Amino acid sequence: MSDNCLFCKIAHGEIPSRKVYEDDEVFAFHDINPVAPVHLMIIPKRHLASLMETDDSHAELLGKMLTLAPKLAREQGLENGFRTVINSGKGGGQEVFHLHIHIIGGGNIPPMVKRS
Ligand code: 5GP
Ligand code: ZN
Repeated sequence: MSDNCLFCKIAHGEIPSRKVYEDDEVFAFHDINPVAPVHLMIIPKRHLASLMETDDSHAELLGKMLTLAPKLAREQGLENGFRTVINSGKGGGQEVFHLHIHIIGGGNIPPMVKRS
């Protein structure tokens, strides 16, 4: 656990969240400021700042997090699909530096990249 990491504190129950899933390695909860009717976050319990800090040793954990995504999405009623977003590093627009996968769905999901 990293001191002063918001998502470490959420994963360890020190800061409350609307939890949807938990096991030994992974925690999932609702985003506090959703951009769509369903907006979940999947995080590893162990601190990992971003995807940029991962290597081969994280392959199993990352696979577990990704395959959890459709299960949680279906539980939230997203039968038609959902968007996953992983912002990585300042250059990727990441704001909370503890790796997280956004699961976004419901309502109207616009194209992610707008071309003019
Ligand atoms: P990022 O921009 O780093 O990919 O996403 C950070 C996300 O964390 C944002 O969508 C933001 O709404 C969410 N967030 C920030 N603080 C909290 C919090 O205290 N609780 C929850 N549940 N989500 C948070
Ligand atoms: Zn952390």
